[in-house]
Amino acid sequence: MVEVTPPDLTPYRNGNVGIPYVTSLDAGSPGPHVLVMALTHGNEISGAVALHRLLSEGLCPKRGKLTLAFANIAAYERFDSGQPHRSRCVDQDFNRAWDAMSLDGPRNSVELARARELRPLIDTVDRLLDLHSMTAPSPPLALVGLHDKSLALARHVGVPEIIVRDPGHAEGTRLRDYGAFGDPSAAAVALLVECGQHWLRATADFAYAITLRFLATTGVIDGLTTPSAAAQRLLDVTHVITATSNHFAFVEHFQGLAMLPKAGTIVAHDGGIAISTPYDDCVIIMPSTRVGPGQTAVRFGHFRE
Ligand SMILES: [Zn+2]
Repeated sequence: MVEVTPPDLTPYRNGNVGIPYVTSLDAGSPGPHVLVMALTHGNEISGAVALHRLLSEGLCPKRGKLTLAFANIAAYERFDSGQPHRSRCVDQDFNRAWDAMSLDGPRNSVELARARELRPLIDTVDRLLDLHSMTAPSPPLALVGLHDKSLALARHVGVPEIIVRDPGHAEGTRLRDYGAFGDPSAAAVALLVECGQHWLRATADFAYAITLRFLATTGVIDGLTTPSAAAQRLLDVTHVITATSNHFAFVEHFQGLAMLPKAGTIVAHDGGIAISTPYDDCVIIMPSTRVGPGQTAVRFGHFRE
């Protein structure tokens, strides 16, 4: 069910930095370059709703430079609320293209062309918030990878409550791990946030709220007005389950963060192979239907704190 209306983004088509659908707002005083990205996946419209709202409200940075960008516009333009799963991407996952071999290589796709168009801008970014959402209903998640600098940023922002440490995907490199973001010794830091189920009003509201918190954390706007609601908990991903067939199916409709008490509980079948939990109190993270070979279907994890 699609609760939110995909906003008309054509007013942002020309942008103001020579890149379509990219708007930069310069405070004219020293500070970081902060980028908030929506629509890395074309059907994850909550981020677009949030950025459209911020732009409509006339948000202005107090320090540094704030860039608001809509990434996979080509996929978003195909969004159909009757078939909302179909517009995740056009040719390939935009969020698996962020390694030098792909970006500098000979292959072409709609998503690689857009990544190459955005790359010079992204190379100047100090702090990135990449807004995503999930197939199954789930509480919001910060996905921080394995570097301490991303974990520190998530703790500084203070929401969401659940921070997931994850190793990434077999399929390719995410924007969050691109270049300096993936270099533990570099100063640039990226945070990927899954704001909730793709098309719920609450997901768009969370995307808006965390964007404001993120901007306040980086200093480009003034301070937080509300404290974080709860202490954050750390969830370690131990297993990334990659589909090997076109017939990956869960045994039931799991919600994100469902906890299965017994090791060996079968959660899915991948072709003829049963996928079961490797230990007691295993947490099901971001179960994703509609996956094909090589794509991440689900992660298993456990709470560290
Ligand atoms: Zn996504």
